[in-house]
Amino acid sequence: MTEPAGVVDLRDQERLDRAVRLALDAERSGNLPVAAVIALGDKIVAEAANAVLVPVFNPGRHAEIRALAAVPESLWPRAAELTCYTTLEPCVMCFGALIAHGVGRVVFGASDPMSGGTAIIGQLPEYAAAKARAIAWVGPALPDICDALRDRAFERSQAARRQRRESAASR
Ligand SMILES: [Zn+2]
Repeated sequence: MTEPAGVVDLRDQERLDRAVRLALDAERSGNLPVAAVIALGDKIVAEAANAVLVPVFNPGRHAEIRALAAVPESLWPRAAELTCYTTLEPCVMCFGALIAHGVGRVVFGASDPMSGGTAIIGQLPEYAAAKARAIAWVGPALPDICDALRDRAFERSQAARRQRRESAASR
C-alpha cells in the first residue's frame, strides 16, 4: 500500500536528514534512535524524537506522537496539508494517531516488518480504512541510513525490556 521512495524530492530528503539527526541525538541521550519532523509547505512546524526510555520509561512517548502534540493548534484545520517525516515506519499506535487526525502524507525512512502499521491498511474496518487511504504513505525512503537506526532501536528496546524483567525478578 506504500509508494516507492522515488516520489521523494529534495525537500523531503532534507527533512528526512533532519529526522535522522534528531534520532541520533535521542540515541545519545539513552532513548531509541527514532525521530519525526512535521512540515507544512516550506516550513517545519513540529519535530520530536523518541523519549520512551529516558528520563523515565513511558511507553507512549514515540517520536510521531510527540511531534503531533507539538503541532500548533492553529494549524490543525490544515491537517491534510501536513507531511510527517519519520525515520521508521509508524507503529500501529502512531499509525492510528496519524489517521485519526487526518495528516495528509507520511514519509518514512525505514520499513518496520516487526511492528509497522501500514501492514494493517488492507484489514481495517471501513471507518478507519477510508482515513488510512486518504494518507499518502511513502517509504521506505531512506533505507541506507534508517535500516541501521531501526535495528539499533530494536536492540535497545529489547535490552531495556530484559533489564526491566531482571530488576522486577530481583525485587
Ligand atoms: Zn509509534
